Amino acid sequence: MDEKNKNILYDFIVLFIEKAMDLLGSDQITNAIGKENIKQKFLKTKKTALVDALASLDKESIKRKITTIIGFLSNNFGVDLTEKTLEEIYSIQERRYSPVLANDIILPLISDNFLEKYRLQYLSKEQLEAKVIEKTKELLELNAKLEKKVSERTAELTQANKELKELDERKSEFLSIIAHQLRTPLSGIKWTLNMLIHGDLGPISKEQERYLIKSYEGNERLIAIVETMLSANRIDSAKYELDLEKNEIVNLVLEVISDNLPYAKTRNVTIHFENPDIVIPEFIFDKEKMRDVLQNLIDNAIKYSRPAGKVTITLQYTDNKVEFAIKDNGIGIPTDQQALIFSRFFRSHNAQSADPNGNGLGLFIVKSIINLHGGRVWFESKQNSGTVFHFSLNANH
Ligand code: ADP
Repeated sequence: MDEKNKNILYDFIVLFIEKAMDLLGSDQITNAIGKENIKQKFLKTKKTALVDALASLDKESIKRKITTIIGFLSNNFGVDLTEKTLEEIYSIQERRYSPVLANDIILPLISDNFLEKYRLQYLSKEQLEAKVIEKTKELLELNAKLEKKVSERTAELTQANKELKELDERKSEFLSIIAHQLRTPLSGIKWTLNMLIHGDLGPISKEQERYLIKSYEGNERLIAIVETMLSANRIDSAKYELDLEKNEIVNLVLEVISDNLPYAKTRNVTIHFENPDIVIPEFIFDKEKMRDVLQNLIDNAIKYSRPAGKVTITLQYTDNKVEFAIKDNGIGIPTDQQALIFSRFFRSHNAQSADPNGNGLGLFIVKSIINLHGGRVWFESKQNSGTVFHFSLNANH
């Protein structure tokens, strides 16, 4: 760097430190610069010492220190004031020397376009126009590139989505065919076992009866799984419609509880039903689908109870709204898995170890049915302490 440039640089540092010290004071400037060796020199806190210390550094180090002070200035006084301060220094230097020299010395020392906003004022009209045209061109090019990329990605995604939909439809068809084909022989087996158990095909021993009942129960579970698969599949393919009629809800709840008593007994779980104080009038809902909802929730409450557990079913009727609560004191749902609980096939870790046989479709079906009825389903749960599932329905007559 020649002598003249050195002088201009020195002049810039003097002006800069002066301005910065006006705003921040010497202590803050020395603090802003940090722990490096140079701080010792700054600590003398005299302007000349600060200026000498800066001027003794190479250009890159000066730029780093100046950037630190600028950062400090703008954090304390805002970007606008910092820009203005820099612009004042720039104008003084421009007057003392020339815009070219001021540009050469100052601009490389000030990063992050800190002078960009004000420096534009110094451009001639033609230069400004050229700059605007250049920037507009850049923006248009960028925009065209982005548009092209977006339309390419959209086309790719549309194609991928189409393929996924086709695969999904084929999977649904496949599942439906299997489930239907399983259903017929399973009901055949059910009736044959039923006849055998009741002695319709000849007398049987107590031991034979015990085995036949076990087979009957296993077959019932298989039928339930097939029915669940078919329901979930129908929901997926949007062929799921409600069969709406006026129905009586309390009797339905009592029927489902009664169906579940043998299962609860095998698990040593008691079921309590808290009947509403007032008579609930008949209202419109799909009885068989509501049976599925109650069956799934009560079955879960028993299944995820611990031995000697207690399941309490409460039914309330207020403001034309029916609200159910099915409460257990079982294994609960871990907090970090609660968000996924209504997703298809989802099973929490503790549920998988408590009962490896679930399929994670029950709650998905429950939510779909309640949503179709315009109702709401939700739950509260604490791991190792218990769960309450609620759902509410509008009791429109
Ligand atoms: P499945 O019971 O076949 O696993 P569901 O869809 O009925 O499928 O339930 C999904 C998951 O929600 C269960 O695997 C279990 O993690 C959790 N869950 C549902 N009900 C309860 C409950 N009463 N107590 C604890 N966890 C439950």
